[in-house]
Amino acid sequence: MKIMLEKLEKFKSIMIFLINEKFSYKSKNRLIFILRIIKEFPKLVKFIFKDVSQIGMIGSIISLDSSTMCQLKCPMCPSLEGIKEEGALGWGYLKFKNFKNFVDKNPEIKRIELSNSGEPFLNPELKEIIKYGWKNKVDITIGTGANLNSVKGDILESLVKYEVKSLTISLDGATNHTYKIYRIGGDFDKVIRNIKIINYFKKKHHSDYPKMLWQFVIMGHNEHEIPAARKFAKQLGMGFYTKLNRIPSYSPIKDKDFVRKESHLGVSNRKEFLGKYKRIYILGCLRLWNSPQINWDGKLLGCNVNLWNNFGNVFETSLKKCLQSERYIYTKQVVLGRKIVRDDIPCSKCAIYKRVKRIPIKKSEIILNDNIHTHNIIPMIRVQKGSPS
Ligand code: SF4
Repeated sequence: MKIMLEKLEKFKSIMIFLINEKFSYKSKNRLIFILRIIKEFPKLVKFIFKDVSQIGMIGSIISLDSSTMCQLKCPMCPSLEGIKEEGALGWGYLKFKNFKNFVDKNPEIKRIELSNSGEPFLNPELKEIIKYGWKNKVDITIGTGANLNSVKGDILESLVKYEVKSLTISLDGATNHTYKIYRIGGDFDKVIRNIKIINYFKKKHHSDYPKMLWQFVIMGHNEHEIPAARKFAKQLGMGFYTKLNRIPSYSPIKDKDFVRKESHLGVSNRKEFLGKYKRIYILGCLRLWNSPQINWDGKLLGCNVNLWNNFGNVFETSLKKCLQSERYIYTKQVVLGRKIVRDDIPCSKCAIYKRVKRIPIKKSEIILNDNIHTHNIIPMIRVQKGSPS
């Protein structure tokens, strides 16, 4: 039995490597799409004839932001607008007490994503949070991204001991010199040291968790370091993926052909992506159904792009009640192309909405959660198993 499992694991690693390195983006996505249909077939049958705007959630995943606080000063940080006084996020962190109550009151939630706007490791109660999740069989992920510059006490060992399922680390460079240009206040060497410590504990505890992913946002000043970063990630036993810059005018791409090749997407920016694949690069709207975003203080934000309004407080009332509010359902109808956007709906301030208005969300995309950059998909296809150094 043990030999069979080892062989199966080896076969899985080879398949993941082949999919990652040898398949084009298009074929990779076709394959994922087929796998998703097979995997989500029961959901397809269950929801295909229903009005998706009336369905509260599909699945059992929630995004609950552990912190909007951050120590870095990244120039394009999208969260800054939400942290300002008039924004919906505010500056703070998720309290253990609220997390515990939320888990106790919502036993149907089986996975909680803890990262979104700030640096999760600045939450002083993070260890208790992940321990409680583990004890209650709720998978914890830090998949949207952490900078991993500041870690206190034994939190790195806790990530391994309490089996945090995935950890995505934002590292936009392969050297400290390049990394520091965008991640102002950060220290590349410190982050690498922390990754190595996690690998040390993974070895010590004979654990595969957390699966680590290196996220590299491509900009003009770091594009030349993509191959070195990819190689380094492999040496560290991490998965690696590139992300196209949200604001292409900041540090514009210098060598488009090089980036087209090295991004493994065949495109050098999000506009080219839309033109080539006829789809929006990151479809944040799907979160309304598949992983509704909750702010650290309990405000339901719906999608993780929303910095402006909220749909009630799930700590004060209930998740179910907030998901069934008139404005939440209306927002779903807006992105499905059935209603006109109103001022009290976050989409009215969102840049993505201009595109969604032209290409509304499809029911199949919602049911299959067919998005290329969700924390659900990336670990599934991109984590390479390697021998941590
Ligand atoms: S269009 Fe609306 S639902 Fe979609 S990402 Fe923007 S704010 Fe979120």
